[in-house]
Amino acid sequence: MKIAFLGIGIMGNEMATRLLDAGHELRVYNRSDNAALQALVQKGAQRCDSPAIAVSGCEIIITMLSHPDAVNAVARGDHGLLQGAARNSLWMDCSTVDPEFSRSMAAVAKKAGLEFLDSPVAGSKIPARNGELVFLVGGDESSFLRAKPVLEILGRKALHCGGSGQGSAMKLVVNFMLAQTVLAAGEAVAIGQKLGLAESQLLDTLLATPVAAPILSALRPRFERKDTEVHFPLKHMLKDLKLAKASLPAGATDLALLAAGIDSYENALSTADQDFSAIYQKLTENG
Ligand code: NAP
Repeated sequence: MKIAFLGIGIMGNEMATRLLDAGHELRVYNRSDNAALQALVQKGAQRCDSPAIAVSGCEIIITMLSHPDAVNAVARGDHGLLQGAARNSLWMDCSTVDPEFSRSMAAVAKKAGLEFLDSPVAGSKIPARNGELVFLVGGDESSFLRAKPVLEILGRKALHCGGSGQGSAMKLVVNFMLAQTVLAAGEAVAIGQKLGLAESQLLDTLLATPVAAPILSALRPRFERKDTEVHFPLKHMLKDLKLAKASLPAGATDLALLAAGIDSYENALSTADQDFSAIYQKLTENG
C-alpha cells in the first residue's frame, strides 16, 4: 500500500519505521529536517517537501503531530494535505487533539472527498516501536475496517469508540487518568520520604500492592532517573490536560471535593465520613 506519513517526531518516527519494515511504500514529510527523517530515507522512504506532495497518490494518510494547530497547518495550510490528497483516500489523524477539533477535521476531509478517522494512541515510544499501541478510533465503521491493515502493524489493539471525535474524547480521558496516576504516585512517595522512608523502599512496596496502577512499574526507571530519555514530552501532557479540562468547570480533584460538599481540604479531614466512592459518584451520573 502507498502510505503518506506526516510528522516524524518521537512517535511518528517509530510508527513510520514499522510501516516501512512491513513492506509498505512510504512517503514522509516533516516540517523540519531531523536525523529520524534521514534514517527513514536511508531505509527507502521517499522524502517530500510539502504535505500536498507527500499525500499525492496515497491510499492512506497518517498525521502524528503535536497539537490541533499543527494538524490544522499541515492539513489546511499552503501546500497542505487537503490540496494534494486523492479523493477516497483515508486520513488517520493519530495526534492527540480535542474531539471538537477532530469533528471539524472530519468535516473538511469529507468536503474534500476523503474519509477521516481520529485515531489517537495510548502507549509511548517503546510500544510504538514494538507495534503495541492501543488505538482509540472515532469515525465510520467502514473507515475503521479499511484502516485495519495499518492498525494491525502499529498496534496490539484498536477500539472503535464511536463517531468522529469519540476516539479523541477517549484519549483525553485516558491521559487525564494517567496524569492523575503519576501525580498520586509522586505525592505518596513525597509523604513517605517526609516520614523517613527511602524512595526505593517506597516504590518497591507501593508497586507490590494493588493500589499502584500497572503503568507505574513501566515508569519507575524514569521516576528514579535511571532512564533519562524523553518518551512523552511534558508539554504534550500539559496540552492534553488543558484540552481535557475544557470539559470541566474546575480540575477534577477540586470539582470532586466541591461536588461532595467539601469546601476545603482541612474540613474534609474532619467532616467527610462517607465512602471515598462519593467522589466518583458526585462526578458521574450516580451522584
Ligand atoms: P514530538 O516528538 O514533539 O513531534 C511533534 C511533531 O509535530 C513533529 O513532527 C513536529 O515537527 C510537528 N509539528 C509541531 N508543530 C508543527 C506545526 N506548526 N506545523 C507542522 N508540524 C508541526 O511529539 P510526539 O511525542 O511524537 O507526539 C505526537 C503526538 O502524539 C502528540 O499529539 C502527542 O500528544 C501524542 N502522543 C505522544 C505520545 C508519546 O509518548 N510521545 C504518546 C501518545 C500520544 P518538527 O520536527 O518540525 O518540530
